[in-house]
Amino acid sequence: MRRFRSTSALVLLLATVSAAQQSLQEFAEAAIAAYDERDSEKLAAMFLPGQAPEWAAGRGLRGWTPTVMPAAPGFGDAAAWFVLSRFQGPEGDGDRVHPIVKRERGWALAAELDEGVDTGFTVDVHTFDMRIAPETQIVNVTDTFHVNGKGASLLMRLSPDFRLVRVTIGDRDAALVGSSAPVTLGDAVPAAPVAVRSGSILWLRGDLADATVTIKYAGKVAHRGERAGPDAAFLTAYWWPHIGRRPIKHQITLHVPPDWIAIGQGELISEAKTDTEYTATWRNDLAVCYLTLAAGPFVIAAETKDRDRIFRSYMMPDKVEKDRGKTIVDDCKRAVAFFEDRLGKFPYSHYYVVDSPDYYGLEAYSFTILTPGITSWAPTHEIGHTWFGGIVPSSYRDSLWNESITQYVDSVLFKEGKDGTLKSGYSANRYGDPLSKIATIRHRSTGEAYMRGAYVMHMFDREMGLDTMIRCLKRFCEERRGKLSDWPDFQAAVRKETGNKYDWFFDQWIYSGEYPSLQIASVESGADGAWLVMVEQDLDPPYRLSFEIEVEGPDGTTRTAVTMTAKRQAFRAAYDGREKPAVVRLITRGITHARPGEEFSLDGS
Ligand SMILES: [Zn+2]
Repeated sequence: MRRFRSTSALVLLLATVSAAQQSLQEFAEAAIAAYDERDSEKLAAMFLPGQAPEWAAGRGLRGWTPTVMPAAPGFGDAAAWFVLSRFQGPEGDGDRVHPIVKRERGWALAAELDEGVDTGFTVDVHTFDMRIAPETQIVNVTDTFHVNGKGASLLMRLSPDFRLVRVTIGDRDAALVGSSAPVTLGDAVPAAPVAVRSGSILWLRGDLADATVTIKYAGKVAHRGERAGPDAAFLTAYWWPHIGRRPIKHQITLHVPPDWIAIGQGELISEAKTDTEYTATWRNDLAVCYLTLAAGPFVIAAETKDRDRIFRSYMMPDKVEKDRGKTIVDDCKRAVAFFEDRLGKFPYSHYYVVDSPDYYGLEAYSFTILTPGITSWAPTHEIGHTWFGGIVPSSYRDSLWNESITQYVDSVLFKEGKDGTLKSGYSANRYGDPLSKIATIRHRSTGEAYMRGAYVMHMFDREMGLDTMIRCLKRFCEERRGKLSDWPDFQAAVRKETGNKYDWFFDQWIYSGEYPSLQIASVESGADGAWLVMVEQDLDPPYRLSFEIEVEGPDGTTRTAVTMTAKRQAFRAAYDGREKPAVVRLITRGITHARPGEEFSLDGS
């Protein structure tokens, strides 16, 4: 196997290499071979009972590179890790780490070590120096950070595009394992300080507590969209060593060719140009989960100012469309004012929209990268992310809560529903996945997080009133600033703002993916001209549901808003017409997420 060497320059672990070690290596080789051959049956059988993940049974068996590495100390008693890595765009699945554990006889793969596992360590601020060479597409980075906390090893992840060049822990150089040649199981890991790398996984061991760590790394970045040249550079995806995508503040100094500019997140601290390079330093004092930069020969296609802020549209020099640029900056100006008035201060001095030849689109909180074709609608969505994703960070590991809320504030509130979001949101529930789980289901229903999420948020504002909803969102932004957040954190803000009124709403529409069906069981005429409509729902325990009952007759239609709290419940539905009504129906579209059932005909009754 090309991934293993039979001999190694590294120190051998004790004298008892032999049987157990050999079989560990053989087991690892067999797992890699099973993966490479897409032998899902064999692979699934290598897992501990009940611990085989979905991908081992066939799904997701394409496009990953399997490797093995010594397990990082401090994460259970695994002998080694089976690692699946691949280049990923931002907000991606994350690579998979499966511990290889000893059994009575031989070895087995165990359930995934979650990316969000507590390493004991935290890092608050990274300081980067990055050099981009567009002709080779090579990126050289030096990352310096201070480590807080205590743990056995610092587990990080870094795009497999990059290899480690040098790692310093405190004032000591770390031995590098797996950086110039594949890791060999069965060899002892050198004494600390040491940096062990395989695929996208990196772990450090040494005097880490309160230490300053410097990691130099380099690699060619040449994917569609995500690339370091030749015409421009867009780096968005795991180009920094991160601990489970936790939010960090950062400063970056970018070195690019002299005819380029470089845009980072946050504020421009300094810039300079010589005959050989353009240099810019940017600093983002907001802790976020995704660090993004754009560099290229961009020119300003349009610019406007509002509330002491600058709005710019940057385009490629050979594709400048001034009218499009003007629309972009006007939209941005209006959106920032709209959101700021409702959600709290926009945290930057500017907002830029940068055209990309082939990058689809990504929010970067103080700017956004967008393919020109979507700049007619996307800039204001990306601006919404400055609050949901930026001010309140989202890792995209557990749910896409911030896409639901951003789609709501942009499409439903700012664009007043004109983009069709509510229409598609009403019917978006293909798998019955709860909104709180859509990321962990790994891309099965991500589109639903946007559309259904926005629809559910709209249901919520009808339920509590728009003013209350805005106050909840604003409180959420204030209380979760810089803190990794998810639906329960929004729920906490709602509880505080409304006095614990809406847990039922989260239980039904965020933490569950089940949607009820309604049915009219009977309709009878009441004493005072109203109609008594008996409605049933199929869920047990029943959902609390708001909807409308429509009574239609030859001379008019009357709707009555009702709230159902029982499995079977009678409602008085008003009817203004004089002639006997012909049909009674339930209206749920735009109000709730229940299927309305068939209309009830009164003909002949
Ligand atoms: Zn978005």
